[in-house]
Amino acid sequence: MPKGLLLKGIDGFYYVKSDDKTYECRARGILRKQNIIPMPGDEVFISINKDGRTGSIEEIADRSSCFTRPMVANVNQIIPVIAVKAPSPDFMLLDKLLITAEAKNIHAVICINKTDLDSSSECNKIKQVYDRAGYEVITSSNKSADSLRHLKEVMKYNISVLAGQSGVGKSTILNTLMDASVMETGTVSKKIERGRHTTRHAELIELDTGGYLVDTPGFSSYELSEIKYCDLELYYPEFAQCLGKCRYTGCSHISEPFCAVKQAVEDGLVDEERYKRYIQFYSTLKEIYHNRYKNK
Ligand code: GDP
Ligand code: ZN
Repeated sequence: MPKGLLLKGIDGFYYVKSDDKTYECRARGILRKQNIIPMPGDEVFISINKDGRTGSIEEIADRSSCFTRPMVANVNQIIPVIAVKAPSPDFMLLDKLLITAEAKNIHAVICINKTDLDSSSECNKIKQVYDRAGYEVITSSNKSADSLRHLKEVMKYNISVLAGQSGVGKSTILNTLMDASVMETGTVSKKIERGRHTTRHAELIELDTGGYLVDTPGFSSYELSEIKYCDLELYYPEFAQCLGKCRYTGCSHISEPFCAVKQAVEDGLVDEERYKRYIQFYSTLKEIYHNRYKNK
């Protein structure tokens, strides 16, 4: 049975790419009965009708990741985007996005955009902090030709999603990448469709340089409420070297003495600002957890 990638779904019609052709498919009744809704990003098995243009989704392969708002499956790379300035970076949101990626076991690459506005090496300072925390950090600007080169490279072979506060340049990046891809394939249909769809479903955009980008207005803010406060330490790559070395088991790395994380902060091995945000997230999550428990 042909295998394909579900690019988008509109009103019960699913557009599945298989062997360089796109088929308009319906979902088999059995899937609906089981309450399984196909999502963009799904790997699906289809049967093709005699017309060679339409078909049915027979089966959906297991998902490696799954987001519900917006609905999209198998995203394997989150790209949090921040701007050097205008707006000034929201590091709480950036760290939340990174924590979410770690918790969902999805690769994260940080993109610092609007480098054309960088007058005081702000970009380098941010890059240094996150490089040292163990993240890949790339830069981009929509203002000069070819400055999305790094982005294109990291998007190859992946299903990526851009995330971050509004105004950092996500739509501009998406449009620039999409225009290039549309020109490459010699069609204008994608662009026209994009202008038309008002109910914003997520859609996978195939990039001319390889990989897929999820076209979505979502992913701009996150609540961490699904994460248990005692697991939070696991989602900081730079804490890994310290875990298990604190004096007290179950150390929260906040008020306990002889804490390896606090020591690492003092020694400059863990960024102090990131650590301060860790404390804030920890306290919030602990409160959420206890309120939940209390109400049961
Ligand atoms: P979004 O809310 O993250 O989707 O951000 P937009 O793509 O709508 O961009 C917000 C504003 O920033 C727009 O006025 C863009 O023209 C501008 N912008 C986007 N990218 C850049 C960039 O690389 N450099 C500069 N200087 N402005 C940019
Ligand atoms: Zn500790």
